[in-house]
Amino acid sequence: MSVLDDSLWSIEFAGAARIPGWDGELAREVLEHFSAFATDRIAPLNPMGDLQGCALVKGRVQLPDGFVAAYQHLAAGGWQGLSAPEEFGGQGLGPVIQALVSEVFSGACHSLQMVTGLVPGAIRLLRHVATPEQQARLIPPLASGAWLATMCLTEAGAGSDLSAIRTRATEGPQGWTISGEKIFISGGDQDASENILHLVLARTGPEGTRGLSLFACLAELSDGRRNGVRVERLEHKMGLHASPTCHMVFEDCAAELIGAPGQGLAAMFLLMNHARLDVALQGVAHAARAHAVARAYAGERQQGRLPDGGAAMLSQHADVHRMLDDMDRRTLAARALAHTALVALEAGDDALADFMTPMAKVAGSEAGMRVTETAMQVLGGYGYLHEYGLEQAYRDARICAIYEGANGIHALTLAKRGLGHAGGAQAAAFAYYIEQIAQQHADRSLSLALKNWKTLGEKVCAAPEENAHLFMQSSIALAELAFWHRVATECPDNHRLQALAPVAQRRVANIVESCLQFVDTGNVPELAV
Ligand SMILES: Cc1cc2nc3c(=O)[nH]c(=O)nc-3n(C[C@H](O)[C@H](O)[C@H](O)COP(=O)(O)OP(=O)(O)OC[C@H]3O[C@@H](n4cnc5c(N)ncnc54)[C@H](O)[C@@H]3O)c2cc1C
Repeated sequence: MSVLDDSLWSIEFAGAARIPGWDGELAREVLEHFSAFATDRIAPLNPMGDLQGCALVKGRVQLPDGFVAAYQHLAAGGWQGLSAPEEFGGQGLGPVIQALVSEVFSGACHSLQMVTGLVPGAIRLLRHVATPEQQARLIPPLASGAWLATMCLTEAGAGSDLSAIRTRATEGPQGWTISGEKIFISGGDQDASENILHLVLARTGPEGTRGLSLFACLAELSDGRRNGVRVERLEHKMGLHASPTCHMVFEDCAAELIGAPGQGLAAMFLLMNHARLDVALQGVAHAARAHAVARAYAGERQQGRLPDGGAAMLSQHADVHRMLDDMDRRTLAARALAHTALVALEAGDDALADFMTPMAKVAGSEAGMRVTETAMQVLGGYGYLHEYGLEQAYRDARICAIYEGANGIHALTLAKRGLGHAGGAQAAAFAYYIEQIAQQHADRSLSLALKNWKTLGEKVCAAPEENAHLFMQSSIALAELAFWHRVATECPDNHRLQALAPVAQRRVANIVESCLQFVDTGNVPELAV
């Protein structure tokens, strides 16, 4: 199956039919159309953008050659407004198709996807918290592609801990102005869109997150003057060279309040929940592409001998076969997790979505890191060269575990809010989801794993910080286990999936044993998810 087929299969398997208005045929059509565009116009830019990088020239950021033209095609094709409501000039196709397209986009060029990819989230946020007048003014240019959006949260002293944000917003006779510095802002400037809408978290009240409000600042004001926001520096980084990561300075920057004062972080979460699934799928995109490259290479490169003395392809060696299977398994399982969370979110299963979103973010980003690394191993020396693009994928994928909340912070969220919030409603929703699968398939081993996971949860509640990583890894493993149990019984004719499923069955013992080991002895096991 192609990556596209895998993705369409996965979203259906995750239950997309439960989402009101879901149209699988339309999803296929849109995805095929976008994949053709991505293959022709976007993917060829990826290696060149990596080598050339972005430049800061006279205070303005320039994207690598070809990126602006590709963006113009993207916008002209209506892709920026894919999920925006039709009343704002969008195509109204909804967040699930948007997510599928986003995975294809990231697989073609993660950097360009980064620069353009915050727009759907920005539109969603504005639709929820902006006034009707603000929506009518700010959404259409985002949907048409005339504007791009940024998310300005991080500061030198406020990374994981946003309560430490110091950028301040002040209200005067002319309205609000913002002063302060933000670091690591993706697409803080670029030369592709006519204007940039910066969504900025700034302090209007007391210390802590309750004093934070959300503001919209346009890089260029309606009279054509530049607003008081500039790029001080472009960061030099390991990967994503074609995505400008900007140190921004706001000096009396004209801004407008979006939503209620003090509600800025809550508003940002409207953007961030989908953004986290987007990051999960960025990791999956790298994993899927790396696996495809490695599988094709291993099927063609002759090396060593078969037991009968005949020439062997790499893929015929047991150890290479093991690596290929491991890559495939991780990729499919991580995508399944992200799609399950996405379907839950869109079907209104909020507690399940809230619990599974951090899991999906961690699983997807880890799949990206591990699969790109294994793929390099399969290609041997060629994996380490530029030629096959795997070393770039390895560098580009690495950030997914760090941004949109570092993975360790997501583990803490799961162990604290997921387990404890509202009497453990989120964890209960996840347990119910697993329980249903175990019951449907009359699977004792899955029920036992669930029982142990629950016991583990009780222990973790008592000391969430120490055990957050273990709890995250066991939760991901349990979800993956349930997925493979479903696959084993629900997809009997799919030979590839049937061959992979036993790998997961072997993991049952691992999870059950690891959880029991912790429950019995208090020793934290090494879980190799
Ligand atoms: C390429 C790139 C693009 C980015 N794009 C954007 C963007 O567009 N907008 C934006 O606002 N930001 C952006 N960021 C910033 C990114 O979101 C932050 O880097 C991230 O949130 C982590 O913050 P930090 O770097 O300050 O790390 P820190 O907060 O210092 O964390 C470092 C490590 O310590 C751990 N840690 C921190 N606090 C705790 C704790 N209380 N308990 C346990 N462990 C903890 C973390 O898990 C992490 O592993 C980007 C960053 C990069 C590199």
